[in-house]
Amino acid sequence: MNAEILCVGTELLHGDIVNTNAQYISKKLAEIAIDVHYQSVVGDNPGRIKKGFDIGFSRADIVICTGGLGPTQDDITKEALAEYFNVEMVYDENSYEHVKEMYSRFRKDFPKNNMRQAYFPKGSIILNNANGTANACILKGEDSEGNIKIGILLPGPPKEMEPLMDNEVIPYLKQFSNQVVYGEKLVVVNIGESAAEEMILDIIENQTNPTIAPYASAGKVIFRITAKADSKEKCMELIEPVKEELISRFGKNNAYVTETGKVEDKTAELLIEKNITIATAESCTGGMVASRLISYPGISKVFMEGFVTYSNEAKMNTLQVKRETLERFGAVSEETAKEMAYGAAQAAGTDISVSTTGVAGPDGGTEEKPVGLVYICVYYKGKFNVLKIKNTGSREIIRDRAATSALDLVRS
Ligand code: ATP
Ligand code: MG
Repeated sequence: MNAEILCVGTELLHGDIVNTNAQYISKKLAEIAIDVHYQSVVGDNPGRIKKGFDIGFSRADIVICTGGLGPTQDDITKEALAEYFNVEMVYDENSYEHVKEMYSRFRKDFPKNNMRQAYFPKGSIILNNANGTANACILKGEDSEGNIKIGILLPGPPKEMEPLMDNEVIPYLKQFSNQVVYGEKLVVVNIGESAAEEMILDIIENQTNPTIAPYASAGKVIFRITAKADSKEKCMELIEPVKEELISRFGKNNAYVTETGKVEDKTAELLIEKNITIATAESCTGGMVASRLISYPGISKVFMEGFVTYSNEAKMNTLQVKRETLERFGAVSEETAKEMAYGAAQAAGTDISVSTTGVAGPDGGTEEKPVGLVYICVYYKGKFNVLKIKNTGSREIIRDRAATSALDLVRS
């Protein structure tokens, strides 16, 4: 069976909010191997919502719709679904009690038009919404040619929709899919996207299960290796040899698996495992390296201190970078990066430290030191490992990539 996601809300069309519901639902369906062929968005307009169902059911077995379950006159998705299946709206006592109970929790009086939230298309399975007034529903029926069609209506607010999707919709839909999809992310660093893809093109082209899909992200390439089988264990068995082959082609130092695809997770994992304490000294990345490391749970065992030393004065006063160094080589230089890293390790008393200093742009670049030039230095056991990188792009991209490279340099 395949599904279409139909999100209702004029604010989505206007770009006022991002359609996170579609993303969430697609992800969840992928996990149970239900393919999504289309996602669409429609405003709060009865005719167009009805049309959304007509089109959705003409090309998908399941239409999952979010939004428009509220009490107001523009909340009309239930009516539109009832019209599609040609059934009437019927009163549900439990839902009435639910709305009343929810209202008494938050407000005193119970608006009359909230009665609408107790009506559902006849034949619906009603899903109790623990986080809001609007109960959701699933309606299974047939189209005019007798094909099974399933309409699922969920509330718009993500904090209401997501638990309903997890706890009700996925268990319900599992009966229509006996397969699971499981994927692992292989992070590749130090190799550009097209070069990396070329190195394994023969494997990508000949592989159907698992499939391998690359995507580039700041300073790294991620290969998502995804398998389909009747259990997660089977999927892992299918993935294992492919993963090993890819790692051997890229080299162990350039490729590794993390659950999230984040470089910092691997770095943090290694620091914790080896009990190596760390400090950061950042200029152009302004705390991004520290922040990304600290996002890893359990990092407190090894992360000691992060310095954001943006001005020359701060570099001198906090990290003991020599005035002479700054004057002679400039703040963006290998020498300054080294002294920053050394100073951070001394100040925080850590085993390892990492520094960043660069030209993030958009202004301030020179021929000798263009926008995008960043020096990164790792200090460990009396040795300095300096990396000079040159990236292009916006200020944010340059900073993000520099942080990724810094985190990866610590790992290596
Ligand atoms: P309510 O009872 O709040 O009216 P509803 O089921 O009628 O709920 P909507 O009115 O369509 O839902 O949306 C309510 C709010 O939920 C929106 O203002 C928005 O903040 C959020 N929302 C709706 N649809 C989406 C979506 N597709 N992605 C992310 N957020 C959404
Ligand atoms: Mg609404």
